[in-house]
Amino acid sequence: MRHKHAIIPIFVSHMGCPNDCVFCNQRQITGVEVAPTDLGIANQIECYLETIKADVIEIAFFGGSFTGIEPQIQEAYLKIAYRYKENGRVHRIRLSTRPDYINAEILSRLKKYGVTTIELGVQSFDESVLLVSKRGHNTEAIYKAVTLIKDYGFELGIQLMYGLPRDDFEKFFFSVEESIRLKADCIRLYPVLVIKNTELEQLYLTQHYKPATLEDTIIAMAMAVKRYEAAQIKVIRLGLQRTDLIDEGREVVAGPFHPALKELVYDQLFFEALKSHWIKEQEAVDVQALEIQVNPKQVTHILGHAKRNLKRCESLKKVVIIQSDQIELNTFKLNERQIISIMK
Ligand code: SF4
Repeated sequence: MRHKHAIIPIFVSHMGCPNDCVFCNQRQITGVEVAPTDLGIANQIECYLETIKADVIEIAFFGGSFTGIEPQIQEAYLKIAYRYKENGRVHRIRLSTRPDYINAEILSRLKKYGVTTIELGVQSFDESVLLVSKRGHNTEAIYKAVTLIKDYGFELGIQLMYGLPRDDFEKFFFSVEESIRLKADCIRLYPVLVIKNTELEQLYLTQHYKPATLEDTIIAMAMAVKRYEAAQIKVIRLGLQRTDLIDEGREVVAGPFHPALKELVYDQLFFEALKSHWIKEQEAVDVQALEIQVNPKQVTHILGHAKRNLKRCESLKKVVIIQSDQIELNTFKLNERQIISIMK
């Protein structure tokens, strides 16, 4: 049986981060510029707990670099979260930080206050990408942080971006493979967007940076999702969440912004699986029509956004789609013959 998992998000914004990565304007993205107070955090948790119904409830400190915040403030925040964990109203605590803000002292503090998962904003495992993105640390810092986090028994999350300056398919795939090799427990994948008032905006405006296209981003992310599925690593986020602030023409100047990137990636996965099998079908039996059975929850993925997938099947005379609860998610049945997984 599937356990429902709910998150209580606490945004700590740019707190703790003296860095200014070329793509980041944390204040702009979260809309939070002031440090949350202890009381504010406790109230927020209470508010969520009043409405949440889930088997697993997790407090998550997002944004900025948690372990770079002054230790007393970290402790104050962690104490609040830990109180809820101790009394059983919350089950897990997660936070995100930079790889170079991890050491034994920091991890001992996080252990003391019951933190379960540490997400590292890795973004790329390529040295040149880290350098030109002004991440302020190298890959050695990432490997060291990962080893320590594992040694201390925390769950490890890794955040990767596609489309940073000097990034390309090959470097992104290398980053994906590295995160698998390092046995990350969960992954977040983000496209790089050009946000107002960042250095990346200047690079873009002066034509020193060209954002990835939406098409390439979808293809790269689809490949990554497949690899993580094969490695049994959960992708817990794909794309940025749409907020009032992250919207094309408002804070996003350029880049592969789409409010439903995850949906487009799954459309792509369905299309890739469909295409390779229908070509085989055509070669084998010269079929001109396809009958596709799919779970009702994923009909939209077979069709594709604005029926794009169907339009791409133009060499076929007829495509019939049948909805069936019997078909597992992420699979479909082709011409009553074979069940096809989109992850293979
Ligand atoms: S380390 Fe994180 S919070 Fe700090 S500038 Fe870079 S992306 Fe933004």
